Amino acid sequence: MRQNVLFTNNVSEALGEALQRLNPNRVFVLVDTHTARLVLPHMSLEARPIVIEAGDDHKSVEALMTVWHALQEGGATRSSVLVNVGGGMVTDLGGMAAATFKRGIRFVNVPTTLLGAVDAAVGGKTGVNFGGLKNEVGAFAMATDVVVSTRFFATLPPQELWSGYAEMLKHAMLTGEAPLRALLNFDPTQDPERLLDLLRDSVQVKRRIVEQDPLEKGLRKALNLGHTVGHAFESLALQRGKPIPHGYAVAWGLVVETVLSHMECGFPSLLLHELAGYVLSHYGTFAITCDDYPQLIALMRHDKKSERGEINCSLLEECGQVRLNCSIEPETMETALDIYRDLFRI
Ligand code: NAD
Repeated sequence: MRQNVLFTNNVSEALGEALQRLNPNRVFVLVDTHTARLVLPHMSLEARPIVIEAGDDHKSVEALMTVWHALQEGGATRSSVLVNVGGGMVTDLGGMAAATFKRGIRFVNVPTTLLGAVDAAVGGKTGVNFGGLKNEVGAFAMATDVVVSTRFFATLPPQELWSGYAEMLKHAMLTGEAPLRALLNFDPTQDPERLLDLLRDSVQVKRRIVEQDPLEKGLRKALNLGHTVGHAFESLALQRGKPIPHGYAVAWGLVVETVLSHMECGFPSLLLHELAGYVLSHYGTFAITCDDYPQLIALMRHDKKSERGEINCSLLEECGQVRLNCSIEPETMETALDIYRDLFRI
């Protein structure tokens, strides 16, 4: 199903038009406790609110049941629409609730975080965490409409903006050198109008890839750029009891995987240094020593892309030229981690 993605800072108008077209008998709006306070009062939307607790701990089956109950008690039918207003947690959970209630009702996403806008709200992956595992239960289901605005980002902590920006860097790297340089010359905390333009280009990258491979059979693996190493950093930080934001892990992971891209596929060294410089100045460092290598490599071997315990990465010959399913020898990964530590002066 094709998804309408609208980029506008007049959210109420865009949402009004989408709802007019969908012509629902009832409209429900799902928010978390933060977006209920910070975002919903600034939207003109006639809808029955459903509020869940904020935070990824609440992306749970229990919260899903809360939404199902509210839909049932509010008399939702197959002709109703659920509008999800929030970050990735709300759009993932709300999408899952809509995909399953009465075997599927239509839903609209209004992402209110940069990560939500650039990644979670588009592309059709919905789900909840279960049994201690992230996104363990879910469904592929597309929002009919996604209304993207940078207006709501004003209340986001800068760290959340930088976290989402790492996924934009990834999308630009999958596209070409010029889009990457445009992002490396920009600060997402400074100019919301310009950010909306850059976001439009970035979301198109994900949409283009998802349209070609909606069920993640091949090309969509390109979107894992930076994530084999990023997830390993994220898990190591969690094991150390000092969690790091997902996007920060992706930013550092992008640098290591660009080093690998240089070593294995000839990615240009100058651009690698520019990327590393930008990440160092805006994201700081993730400190590791060579004593961490065995644990990091074990984590990479357990990554979801690894089918036979090998280290599997998506690499780049240059920006826009992706090589999927590259198998990386542990010694090569150790060298890339050494170079990362040199680049970051760790
Ligand atoms: P989130 O929704 O938990 O939002 C982060 C925090 O920001 C929350 O406390 C939230 O209440 C708050 N918040 C949201 N909008 C705000 C605003 N405008 N002002 C102030 N605070 C605001 O998380 P996220 O970072 O948006 O997304 C992470 C989630 O997205 C994870 O659950 C992840 O698994 C999922 N995800 C899904 C996909 C996908 O393809 N479906 C892709 C990437 C991430």
